[in-house]
Amino acid sequence: MANGRIVIALGGNALQEAKGAATAEAQLAVVKKTCGYICDIVKKDYEITIVHGNGPQVGRILLASETAKDVTPAMPFDVCGAMSQGYIGYHIQQGMREALKAHGMSTPVVTLVTQLVVPSDDPGFKNPTKPIGPFYQEAEAKAIAAEKGYAMKEDAGRGWRRVVASPVPTKIVEIDSVRKLMKDTVVITCGGGGIPVIETADGNLEGVAAVIDKDFAAELLAEEIQADALMILTEVEKAAINYNKPDQKDLDHITVAEAEKYIEEGHFAPGSMLPKIKAAIKFAKANPGKKAIITSLYKAVDAIEGKTGTVVTLD
Ligand code: ADP
Ligand code: MG
Repeated sequence: MANGRIVIALGGNALQEAKGAATAEAQLAVVKKTCGYICDIVKKDYEITIVHGNGPQVGRILLASETAKDVTPAMPFDVCGAMSQGYIGYHIQQGMREALKAHGMSTPVVTLVTQLVVPSDDPGFKNPTKPIGPFYQEAEAKAIAAEKGYAMKEDAGRGWRRVVASPVPTKIVEIDSVRKLMKDTVVITCGGGGIPVIETADGNLEGVAAVIDKDFAAELLAEEIQADALMILTEVEKAAINYNKPDQKDLDHITVAEAEKYIEEGHFAPGSMLPKIKAAIKFAKANPGKKAIITSLYKAVDAIEGKTGTVVTLD
């Protein structure tokens, strides 16, 4: 790790094209291109660990599972998350192997099914707000709520959906394995933000229905493995203030204090840019002198070299 260690968080566009087919084949094709860009970072002599999102993928697994419930029992949401880590990780393993091989490298690549501990007293468990899975008619939604005890809510006039908690994780259960593996292996971990588990009174783990934001999972991982940088790769080259307005201003380098002020002014959309900025702040605060970078997948190398991206540092 001549130049340092980077945690790379991959957003939705690294796995799927916005208007592309939702098939596994289409995903693999996108992932292979993505891995070419990630390999460019490896070639610059950085040691990397990969985290990825899973929103659309886990949504489809859940939909398939719920649709087939008269034939075979539906899978709980934490299990759907574990399944998504497996197949997305598999695609990245294949893509990375191919990209590395094209550059004469044979670094092993492995996916770790990863559980993240979340606080069992997170307010979201009592009052969940994060919508997941298919839309239902009101009557059907109420029947499901009564039968399964799910929380169901009306989603912005589009129909009824199940809602779950969206807690910030406190611990990566498999972190020791990540540390051992990453010495000579590209590790894909905390996929989809990790499988959310709570610690029971007897010290065991229990999967829960919740969504962990992959940006917070990547941040926790970056802290735990003492990464030199947290790199959040998404669709936009830079975060902006007055986003999508005539006076939009792209942000180059901001301090934690500036980022906090922009959050207060409401510049970052909840559920998309806000968690990235919050994760960047958390990393920069915990690691004075180190930086969190938000940029696009295609500009990753330029951003590492300081040429673009939004960089967040403590001061
Ligand atoms: P990912 O799948 O990579 O996590 P998201 O779609 O969740 O990506 O978040 C990235 C998106 O956030 C951008 O594509 C952009 O449309 C949106 N966004 C919202 N607010 C801002 C902002 N202030 N600056 C830049 N992008 C923003
Ligand atoms: Mg997205």
